[in-house]
Amino acid sequence: MRSGLEDSGGQSKVLYVDIDFEEGSRFACPSCGRPCAVYDSEVKRWRHMNFWQHATFLSARVPRVECPEHKVRQLEVPWARPESGFTLMFEALIMALVREMPVAAVGALVGEHDTRLWRIVRHYVAKAHAAQDWSEVAAVAIDETATRKGQRYATVVVEIDLEMKREARLLFMTPERTAASVGEFAEAMGVHGASAPQVQVAAIDMSPAYQKGVAEHLPQAQVVFDRFHVMKLAGEAVDAVRRALRAQGADLKGAMWALRGNWQNLKQEQRELRLDLGRALALRESLQDTWQWPGPASAALHLKGWCSWAARSRLLPFQKLARTIKSHWDGILAFFPHHVTSAAIEAINGIIQTARRRARGFRNFLNLQAICYWMAGRLKLSIPSPFAHPI
Ligand SMILES: [Zn+2]
Repeated sequence: MRSGLEDSGGQSKVLYVDIDFEEGSRFACPSCGRPCAVYDSEVKRWRHMNFWQHATFLSARVPRVECPEHKVRQLEVPWARPESGFTLMFEALIMALVREMPVAAVGALVGEHDTRLWRIVRHYVAKAHAAQDWSEVAAVAIDETATRKGQRYATVVVEIDLEMKREARLLFMTPERTAASVGEFAEAMGVHGASAPQVQVAAIDMSPAYQKGVAEHLPQAQVVFDRFHVMKLAGEAVDAVRRALRAQGADLKGAMWALRGNWQNLKQEQRELRLDLGRALALRESLQDTWQWPGPASAALHLKGWCSWAARSRLLPFQKLARTIKSHWDGILAFFPHHVTSAAIEAINGIIQTARRRARGFRNFLNLQAICYWMAGRLKLSIPSPFAHPI
């Protein structure tokens, strides 16, 4: 072994570590392990972790051996993957860094073009993801997530643990948000030691696409319409009431104030407008209480009362919401008895949005998917770690 510092042209120097073997060395045949003579050799070079401030390269004469049985065979080196220009340790470093900072920033830091880094990320993530065991998955949350500013969407499937013992795990991510997206997940289960019928619970929003997808591809799954999605609709109904009031010229800032007092100073029609907003807010609050009841029977009673209140409210957006709730009745009450919530998917959506920002300029969906799996998929990498803790 020989090493030396060379000036790479700029300020920084590059450290080269040359590895060679002695003439007459014999190496094990990769197929049968028999010690064989060297047939020929080729010098290869790998980027390794920096030595102090110096970019460090290993270069080694890598032999091909000639086995009496297997003929001429290429040897592999223990410190790098075939065809990779990086050592395993350098790759482990990259994988650790891209979890913490944007890939482009990592590229600038280590002086490598980010397309080379993306290749590393996709390789390790694909391998670890393919090896993931889904045999215990019994409940999932399926949701859409924005992948680009221009409102392109992907579907994500997150494992939820009804007993809340395991941390949520991003299982699957695919472009589009159609019924077929659920089918793609069901199909993927096959390569992860799992099958679609084992999914007992699927928490989804009320979009027809996911309802159809679950009905077709996860036949055993009880659909749960998640309370976050129901409450999101309630929030939108309040906004619609607000907009309608604004269109009628109501002063809404004053309205909030008027709800707290100063009532006698208002004209009759202003009072009515402001009553509307108050009713909308009260309806939203009351809907929230549905999930506080101990069981489906009491929650159903509450929700029934709520629907007739909403129907009588003369607030069109809430009348519409009451109809939506009635037509998704069982799925909303399926929250009980397990208290199924896709809160986990909210957390993972947050991670995905962070990943999206990190992967700025990620160029294609596969890069974004790889970073998301890496950040939220609880993957186990098979790579020697240069750190005290496995990455
Ligand atoms: Zn052999």
